[in-house]
Amino acid sequence: MANLAAETVMPCEQKKKLIRRFMPDSSQRVRHVVQWIFVALNGWIGLQFYLWVRYFERGGTGLYVSRPAGVEGWLPIAGLMNAKYLLVTGRVPTIHPAAMYLFLGFLLMSLLLKKAFCAWLCPVGTFSENLWKLGRRVFARNLYLPKWADLPLRGLKYLLLGFFALIIGGMSAEALDDFMATPYGLVADVKMLNFFRDIGLTAVVVVGILVLLSMLVQNFWCRYLCPYGALLGLFSLLSPAKIRRDAETCIDCGKCARVCPANLPVDRLVQIRSAECSACMICVAACPAENALQFSLPPRRVVSATQRWHRRALGPFAVAGVLACIFFGAVLIARATNHWQTEVPRDVYLRLVPHAKDASHPGM
Ligand code: SF4
Ligand code: SF4
Repeated sequence: MANLAAETVMPCEQKKKLIRRFMPDSSQRVRHVVQWIFVALNGWIGLQFYLWVRYFERGGTGLYVSRPAGVEGWLPIAGLMNAKYLLVTGRVPTIHPAAMYLFLGFLLMSLLLKKAFCAWLCPVGTFSENLWKLGRRVFARNLYLPKWADLPLRGLKYLLLGFFALIIGGMSAEALDDFMATPYGLVADVKMLNFFRDIGLTAVVVVGILVLLSMLVQNFWCRYLCPYGALLGLFSLLSPAKIRRDAETCIDCGKCARVCPANLPVDRLVQIRSAECSACMICVAACPAENALQFSLPPRRVVSATQRWHRRALGPFAVAGVLACIFFGAVLIARATNHWQTEVPRDVYLRLVPHAKDASHPGM
């Protein structure tokens, strides 16, 4: 098992005896439950935020609900800007601090568990996954782009990430502070909601094309266009947890590679380092052999006469538990230190929220 520690392409060996897994795999059931809980949480936050916006649009009359700070999880650029602000000044920003806490939490998840955020929590990832599954039912298959198209297209998300990183990297702490204090910065979340409420024909066409492409190509948005996923993918390269294959128990059936939505050659590697791996564990679920494929920490050498390696697999409950600890940990730290809510006076919202749709309004 010494080869567990290195990424090497294994030569095809003679047929090996299959030792069937003793227990049925539950990773996909657990993951889907986590995914839909997170979709429901986002739906609840979205509804509460909508009611909050309507209150201010009606001039502060009618039903009042408090602003759910969790909506800032949908402001990753604000999260990145605020993280830079914290890094440069050592101070927690006052506008959209929750965006930063959630952003840092999602980065930590990637550092520990590959891009698990994408496959376990991100609602866009959940819809993306269900779209390609629907596409497979409707068209009887998904398409795989040829390498010459796939590789440059995969670079697009890094270009988008580079674009944002360049702009934000070039901003001073004062510039970041000033931007967040503009009317646009203060109600960036309202503007995002308005984008979906008053979606124009062009946006509908673009979203429609993306939906169709997502039905045809597995995780089209995530694989080619999502700059957030690109950033998480880069952090995930440092993750100690990886999909690891034991060449001794593996029977080289190739099932893992065939089901991998990232199209990775799981059946030929001993560990998956790729930034595209989202720890979805679909490959693990498909593997018929006991202990042949696991999402695990690096194996530890057991000092004994046989010099065996101790495998440290991470089951679906462990993954879900770590994700929950990081997510709720970030929220709790932010709340306990009074950095969860954006502190903007009510009269400022009364002035700005009704005009968030109006691009000609000063600062919008
Ligand atoms: S290697 Fe496995 S865990 Fe990683 S993306 Fe492919 S199927 Fe998912
Ligand atoms: S699914 Fe992959 S890891 Fe499992 S036995 Fe087949 S080739 Fe080996």
